[in-house]
Amino acid sequence: MKDYSGFKLIRNALSGHRNWPRMWRDPEPKKHYDVVIIGAGGHGLATAYYLAKYQGVKNIAVLEKGYLGGGNTGRNTQVSRSNYFYPESGAFYEHSLKLFEDLAQEINFNVMFSQRGVLAICNSHHEMEIYRRWANAIAMNGTDSEILTREDIKKRAPYVNLDCRFPIWGGFIQKRGGISRHDAVAWGYARQASAAGVDIIQQCEVSGLQTSDSRITAVETNRGTISADKVALCVAGHSSQLAAMAGLRLPITSIALQAMVTEPVRPIFHTCLVSAHIHVYVSQSDRGEIVIGGGADLYNSFAQRGSLPIQHENISALLELLPIFSRLRLMRQWAGICDMAYDVSPIVGKTEIENLYISTGWGTGGYKAIPAGGDTLAWTIAHDQPHELLKPFQLDRFESGCLIDEGAASGVAH
Ligand SMILES: Cc1cc2nc3c(=O)[nH]c(=O)nc-3n(C[C@H](O)[C@H](O)[C@H](O)COP(=O)(O)OP(=O)(O)OC[C@H]3O[C@@H](n4cnc5c(N)ncnc54)[C@H](O)[C@@H]3O)c2cc1C
Repeated sequence: MKDYSGFKLIRNALSGHRNWPRMWRDPEPKKHYDVVIIGAGGHGLATAYYLAKYQGVKNIAVLEKGYLGGGNTGRNTQVSRSNYFYPESGAFYEHSLKLFEDLAQEINFNVMFSQRGVLAICNSHHEMEIYRRWANAIAMNGTDSEILTREDIKKRAPYVNLDCRFPIWGGFIQKRGGISRHDAVAWGYARQASAAGVDIIQQCEVSGLQTSDSRITAVETNRGTISADKVALCVAGHSSQLAAMAGLRLPITSIALQAMVTEPVRPIFHTCLVSAHIHVYVSQSDRGEIVIGGGADLYNSFAQRGSLPIQHENISALLELLPIFSRLRLMRQWAGICDMAYDVSPIVGKTEIENLYISTGWGTGGYKAIPAGGDTLAWTIAHDQPHELLKPFQLDRFESGCLIDEGAASGVAH
């Protein structure tokens, strides 16, 4: 995209970066769109981008009740990896990781993807045996996955207290896993989608779905009624509410997941560390903050705020593993509302309503899935049939019983 060349960067630097054009247009909603996507998180924006760029659909709107990227996409801890146990998940998340590896070029935006490795540590002999089986199964699926000894962990993360209360036995790592900047992913997709003609309409809350003959005819919003040929729900923790507007009941519950960051410090921690046993995961962002996450809240909620018990739990776990961080000050704590399916796997594709598509069930792990989720949902909408990689992730698995139980996949239990 010429507007963002190296030359423009230098020229704008000389004028104090005051003359950059707007990153995306701010259009008034039209009366009709071929495709209306509800939710301008990563999944909604990526779907719009791939639809416009690769599927030749041009008349698209993304409707967002707040500001784009203000949902879970801008609240997560930014970890990407593809080391899932079941082959269906492995294939899908590997596609996503590959897209992440080239994403900066694809959307001409520096998403700061840093493949520093995602390292899960084991705190008992039994856990070590399970991880060995897990790592081997993942490697057999064709995804990189290596067992590490205590000495390997010491080299990779020298400040980890290997002899903590539950001594560390070893671990396993996906070296291609890592973190990126979540805002940049949302902004990059938004900018390119807008440039391709997609109308991104913020402050536009969907409050109803009009149906006729098992089809959605229009969406009702606080900025008027908009008719649509096809509608996609990409609203994460609000999936059940939006689906209910069309009379659809989803096997999804909404729970808050919290995260927190410390004040920034110089680069000191060069991997993403996960402990299922001590129950915390931690990385250092490129801004220097130590990013800390743990288990989800244990009750359903739509409240996007942090709480003291979770703060206490996560910080105690962190300091058990990394006492070196004990004098850092905590800067922020927040929550996002996650869309949990009973088998902790996504539901992406068609619904029993002819022209209604969904992208949900991403739960606590859908950031890493944004490129593949967008790419495959766009294909599904354009061809009106599930993309090959999405076939196992359809709603009918809750009738057939072909569940993909990834309850243990997130590294910390949720
Ligand atoms: C604290 C935390 C840490 C996480 N860490 C990771 C991680 O490390 N790695 C990982 O892979 N995943 C992680 N996740 C999960 C990941 O963030 C989500 O799965 C992913 O961002 C979901 O993207 P989305 O586009 O589906 O949803 P969102 O980004 O939430 O977007 C949905 C959008 O829909 C909008 N919306 C809702 N209702 C309406 C309406 N009625 N009308 C219009 N718009 C509406 C919302 O405002 C929102 O902007 C984490 C989540 C949290 C909360």
